[in-house]
Amino acid sequence: MVSSSIDIVSFAYFDHSFTKRIADSVALEFNADVQLKEGHLDISDYYDAPRKQYKGNELLKSVEKSFSDETHKTIGLFNVDLFIPILTYIFGQAYLGGNTAIASAFRLSNARYGMKEDFELLLERMTKEVIHELGHTYGLIHCYTPGCVMASSTYVEDIDQKSTSFCSKCRGSVTQ
Ligand SMILES: [Zn+2]
Ligand SMILES: [Zn+2]
Repeated sequence: MVSSSIDIVSFAYFDHSFTKRIADSVALEFNADVQLKEGHLDISDYYDAPRKQYKGNELLKSVEKSFSDETHKTIGLFNVDLFIPILTYIFGQAYLGGNTAIASAFRLSNARYGMKEDFELLLERMTKEVIHELGHTYGLIHCYTPGCVMASSTYVEDIDQKSTSFCSKCRGSVTQ
């Protein structure tokens, strides 16, 4: 039985196979009905010129306001460098126990770190990031169980250390 509904809204250009495979993983992990959509936002409004980055808090607020509602969870996908005032950068962000999250592929590609691009690795990292942020919208906090997708990640290497799945305890909170 499908227990919830999730919208994945792209605000950047992503290959269809990229978003489709993320959606399939999300559907499986949350036992949810997942809709893939495209969203349009003038993200220049969220650009912080001195930092040359985009304001995560404001983008999250805007996705919540214009693309989200109480009936389901919504995650916006971006491909820009996001930050919040207390951190140098973020991979994504969510309202804990709320309805809305955002995630960015910007810092997840090998090319960003001077290495050869690896589509499968980028897809895997983005899938983990999307599942992680959506997990927060289900009220999950960071988890210390080895391999759990709810482990916190500061660097891409941290993302590579975890799986795309919830540990059994976290899973219980999202698929009840
Ligand atoms: Zn987190
Ligand atoms: Zn866990």
